[in-house]
Amino acid sequence: MKLFQFIFYLVILNSALSCNKNVSDDVIFYTDFHSSKLTKVEKTGDNQYTTYFSPAFEPVNKSPWFAFGISSKIDKEIVVQLNYGKYKHRYVPKLSSDKKTWKIIDAQRIKVDSSTGIATLNLSVSSQKLYVAAQEVESSEDTYSWINELLIKHPEIKKTIAGKTVLDKNNYALEIEDNSNLNSIVLIARQHPPEIPGGTISFKAFYEELLSNSQMASDFRSKFNIYTFPLLNPDGADMGNWRHNANGVDLNRDWVGFTQPETQMVDKYLTRKTKEGKKIQFALDFHTSYSGPYMLILDSLNEIKTNKIIPDWIDRIENNSQFKVEARRRSQQLPYCYNYFYNKFNCEAVTYEEGDEVDRHIIKKRAQAYARELMITFNNK
Ligand SMILES: [Zn+2]
Repeated sequence: MKLFQFIFYLVILNSALSCNKNVSDDVIFYTDFHSSKLTKVEKTGDNQYTTYFSPAFEPVNKSPWFAFGISSKIDKEIVVQLNYGKYKHRYVPKLSSDKKTWKIIDAQRIKVDSSTGIATLNLSVSSQKLYVAAQEVESSEDTYSWINELLIKHPEIKKTIAGKTVLDKNNYALEIEDNSNLNSIVLIARQHPPEIPGGTISFKAFYEELLSNSQMASDFRSKFNIYTFPLLNPDGADMGNWRHNANGVDLNRDWVGFTQPETQMVDKYLTRKTKEGKKIQFALDFHTSYSGPYMLILDSLNEIKTNKIIPDWIDRIENNSQFKVEARRRSQQLPYCYNYFYNKFNCEAVTYEEGDEVDRHIIKKRAQAYARELMITFNNK
């Protein structure tokens, strides 16, 4: 096989992002954006390419993230294989020309070999860059610009620098706080970088529902402070990590040891709030799973010892919305975020899991319904 022309540029844009560009004849593969991931690309034949993806840290669960751009000097059809080495294809590719609007690849344009785990894509490429990614790309810039738009619409939200990340970036909390309120709830999103459906789409829709100008939402906000960590792992998101933060640690296994700045930040922040007299009543931690949607809830001991919010909330969702809740019970003793809330603050907490490929419209509707029913549950207590 003739070696293709290969030019590699490495431009350090800032401490977190290395920008490289792989050039092969007239087709260019791009990784010059936050959250991109493409380990290697080879030309394997006329208009045929193999792309390779490997995780930044191991061991890691099977969540092979990919995100790259492609352009071609001339309009044409190319074949691109996604090769994950010892891992297997999981996420149905999403395509975009602007990294804002995404569309799932047509079913007839993808084939997955279940024994090798390699996916083969047929793509139409042109001089306009085509983005191909495991999920909609949501880098820290994207989440922070959503926050900045929210702050304009809702001046009652206070954005604070709650701590720093491993890479010394600011890590933010959003506060809606009335000093006369002691009752508080906490939302945490995106500990795991690829988990955009729950970690970003559900989380945003849920939070925006809490901010709505309905009577129910304003009643709720008149009684509850809302503390939010909208992107707990910005380093991991921007690095295109499969699971970890920049130290290679799964943050959702660090809620007992607190070895990482991101988990330490939350603990320090909430400890300070409780010292000021705030009472944390409930917490939600937003994730995505292959088998979602479902909700992880703690042993029944959790609600027996507290305010029975979870069973009332689930009853309300099932009676008043189109959604059913698959609740999966887990032990109190695991080093997960929601266990921390129960063990430290004696409050109820859930892990909110969406599914990888659930229709995005349904994801938003579910999050809105869950948020409304949670507010009514609290308003009625
Ligand atoms: Zn997760």
